Amino acid sequence: MTYDKNNIFARIIRGEISSKKIYEDEFVLAIEDIAPAAPVHVLIMPKGDFISFDDFAVKAGTKTMTHFFQVITIVARMMKVDVSGYRLIMNHGHNASQSVAHFHVHLIGGKPLGGLLPGDDKAR
Ligand code: AMP
Repeated sequence: MTYDKNNIFARIIRGEISSKKIYEDEFVLAIEDIAPAAPVHVLIMPKGDFISFDDFAVKAGTKTMTHFFQVITIVARMMKVDVSGYRLIMNHGHNASQSVAHFHVHLIGGKPLGGLLPGDDKAR
């Protein structure tokens, strides 16, 4: 699979489509999800051309990866969920229902999130 430079997140990164920015630096952008699944739902994405987590993990260097994951902790603090807790979701490919082929991490929180998967309501 080749990276599609016209996917919606690539266009948001280029400023062609508007978004609610939470954080931005030279390498990373974080925006509010347009259809939030919880009171806090931020999408954190590297600006580089990575299709998914797998692509990012294989191709990005250590420096890029380290910075990316550090930004997630910064965003968690900005959204004030670092103490109450949050969930990170990275959908890779068809079975995970990845709908935008530009790597992004969902940071979700602001309420108890229940079980790991839909229908899994076990208290944890
Ligand atoms: P995934 O299914 O993991 O690829 O997640 C894609 C996410 O992008 C979904 O949660 C969508 O609600 C979100 N999304 C799609 N278009 C936009 C947009 N224009 N601005 C913000 N979030 C979006």
